Amino acid sequence: MDGIEQQTPVERVIKRPKGTYRLSDFIVQRTLGTGSFGRVHLVRSKHNLRFYAIKVLNKERVVKMKQIEHTNNEQHMLEAVQHAFIINLWGTFQDASNLYMVMDFVPGGELFTLLRRSNRFPDPVAKFYAAEVALALNHLHGLDIIYRDLKPENILLNQDGHIKIADFGFAKTCTTTTWTLCGTPDYLAPEVIGQQRYNKSVDWYALGVLIFEMLSGLPPFHQPDANPVMLYEKITRGPAFIKWPAAFNPLATDLILKLMESDPSKRYGNLRHGAGDVFAHQWFREVDWERLAAREITAPYLPKISGDGDASAFDKYPEDNAAAAYGQLALDPYGNSFPDFDYTSDTS
Ligand code: AMP
Repeated sequence: MDGIEQQTPVERVIKRPKGTYRLSDFIVQRTLGTGSFGRVHLVRSKHNLRFYAIKVLNKERVVKMKQIEHTNNEQHMLEAVQHAFIINLWGTFQDASNLYMVMDFVPGGELFTLLRRSNRFPDPVAKFYAAEVALALNHLHGLDIIYRDLKPENILLNQDGHIKIADFGFAKTCTTTTWTLCGTPDYLAPEVIGQQRYNKSVDWYALGVLIFEMLSGLPPFHQPDANPVMLYEKITRGPAFIKWPAAFNPLATDLILKLMESDPSKRYGNLRHGAGDVFAHQWFREVDWERLAAREITAPYLPKISGDGDASAFDKYPEDNAAAAYGQLALDPYGNSFPDFDYTSDTS
């Protein structure tokens, strides 16, 4: 190969320069969201006065929940990716107790909130969000990254109404197949539930679920019951058993069935033309993909933002003085598990 070392796509883009950040660079303003391992805060830089979001993960909780590899993956994947519809990671660091990920603050809130408020989206609105998601998935897959957690909660809306996909906690590099059971029950493809090996096509399956949820208000196999056993049975029986709401757009139905195809070898997005089949589907016929990718299509909903740092689109969470515990001196038994999160803080 002419002496040129072959690199995977991820290795090619991973050399993006990384900023060095520390906790004392920021003033914590409020909590934007909570996860199993910690919180996401709105913060303000003391230097440039800009607002950012910092995701804080408690190392002990990450280790106890056996998520070391997923957390390191999250950092590596976000560092590797730069795309208009994917959250931007500025840098990461750690102290004795926590890991920190500095991201752009995406002020428009979750697509989930907009969807629940709207009940369901009209066809063109669902199509706009689905098309932007399809472009983001295609970009990730081109870098051999599977995302594995597509759902309305993880799609944030930027100030201009375009999407930013967040939460790469389950994303991983995968050139062939993998098998870990992870994701969100309503959005799991049957082969994931069946604990078989699976590939990137699980993201296309999830896009089918997302389109259905946007158009109807709930995911196709939704169970009010929190126990997922019934849900998993329905997913395994396949899309032929979906109960379609009256007057569902037949082209949308056709695409959803092709994306939610139970057999991955027959699933749209995973055939010979890859994502090209999805882009060329008739439901998307009026989408100008190039203009969409360039963010030249006006978004259907403009978040009401009163100024920089306005986080009113996010639910309020009890603050519980959580930020006071950050940056404290403490024993650090798990530091070696997260080698690419630098120690930069003044106390460590
Ligand atoms: P995550 O654990 O990454 O899913 O984050 C939990 C929640 O925090 C998300 O569902 C969002 O509501 C919020 N969040 C995460 N990242 C950001 C961000 N960069 N800007 C604004 N809100 C965010």
